[in-house]
Amino acid sequence: MVCCFDAQKKHEYFVDLHTHTTASDGLLTPSQLVAQALQAGLMAIGITDHDSTDGLREAITAGERLGVQIVPGIELNTKADDEEVHILGYYINYDLPWLQDMLASLRHARWVRGKRMVENLRRIYNFDISFEEVKKEVTQGAVGRPHIARVLVKKGIVKDIAEAFEKYIGTHCPAYEPRYHLTIEQGIKLIKDAGGVPVLAHPGLLKDQKHAMLAIEFGVNGIEAIHSKHTPEQCEHYRRLAHEHGLIVTGGSDYHGEKGKDMPQLGDIKMPCSIIEDLKRMAHVTNRLTQSV
Ligand code: AMP
Ligand code: FE
Ligand code: FE
Ligand code: ZN
Repeated sequence: MVCCFDAQKKHEYFVDLHTHTTASDGLLTPSQLVAQALQAGLMAIGITDHDSTDGLREAITAGERLGVQIVPGIELNTKADDEEVHILGYYINYDLPWLQDMLASLRHARWVRGKRMVENLRRIYNFDISFEEVKKEVTQGAVGRPHIARVLVKKGIVKDIAEAFEKYIGTHCPAYEPRYHLTIEQGIKLIKDAGGVPVLAHPGLLKDQKHAMLAIEFGVNGIEAIHSKHTPEQCEHYRRLAHEHGLIVTGGSDYHGEKGKDMPQLGDIKMPCSIIEDLKRMAHVTNRLTQSV
C-alpha cells in the first residue's frame, strides 16, 4: 500500500470530503470513484452516501490498492419544518447492527416514496415512466430523486437533471412526495451514538438559516463551510460561524459522478488533509463519551 499521509508534508495533501457512489445516488462505483480521486490529484476522499455505508468496504480496498485514503462517512437528509437539513457523519462505527437496521429502514422509506413519485409523474403529467426503469438506475439500494431525474433525461422528457428538479421533482413540485425523515436532533444523535462526528452539510443551500443555528444548538461538531455550491462570501461567512462556535470547518464537492458543466466535479473542493486528523480526534472523543454513559 502506498501511504498517502505524511505528517511532515500535510500541507501538500488534499481531501474532498463530500462524494457519492452507486451505494446511493452517485454514478460511479466506489472503486471507480477512488480511481478518479487519484487522477484528480487527491490524497484522500470522504465518501458520504445518503443513508448508506454500503460503498465503504469496496472503497477502502480500492484505496489501499491505489494509495488513496478513505474517510468513511454518511449523509443523512434530516428535516425541520419543510426544509431538508443534511447532516454528514464521519468515522461512524458502521458495523453496529442497530445503525444498519436504522439505515435499512430509511432506505425502505426511500423505495416507498420513489414508487409514489413515479406514480405521480404518470398520473399528473401522463409521462411514460415506470418504477422498473428507475430501479435499473439503482445499484445498491438507496434510491433517490436523482435516479428518477436520470430516467426523465434518458427519455428526453427533460433536457437535464436541473430541469427535472425545477419542474417535476423538487420539493415545491406537485409530483414531490415526502418520505420519513429524521429530525435534525435525531440525525446528530444517531451519528454521535455511532461514535462519529456530525457536520452540518452545505448550510448555504438552506432557505431558512435558523436551521443552521438549530444544528449548532443540537451539537454538530463541524460545518461544511466550503462547498461547491457556496459563493466565496458564503464560504467565508460559514468559516467565521464555525470559528465563533468552536467547530471544525470541512469542505467537499458533493460530486455525484455527473459530468455536466454546472455539476460539481471531484476535487473542485480541495481541503488540507490535516482535517482528517481533526475528524479522527473528534470521533475518538465521541467514542469515549458514548462508552462512558
Ligand atoms: P432525495 O434524497 O431522494 O430526496 O434527493 C435529494 C438529492 O437530490 C440531493 O441529495 C442531491 O443529491 C440531489 N438534488 C437535489 N436538488 C437537486 C437539483 N436541483 N439538481 C440536482 N440534484 C439535486
Ligand atoms: Fe445526492
Ligand atoms: Fe446534501
Ligand atoms: Zn451530498
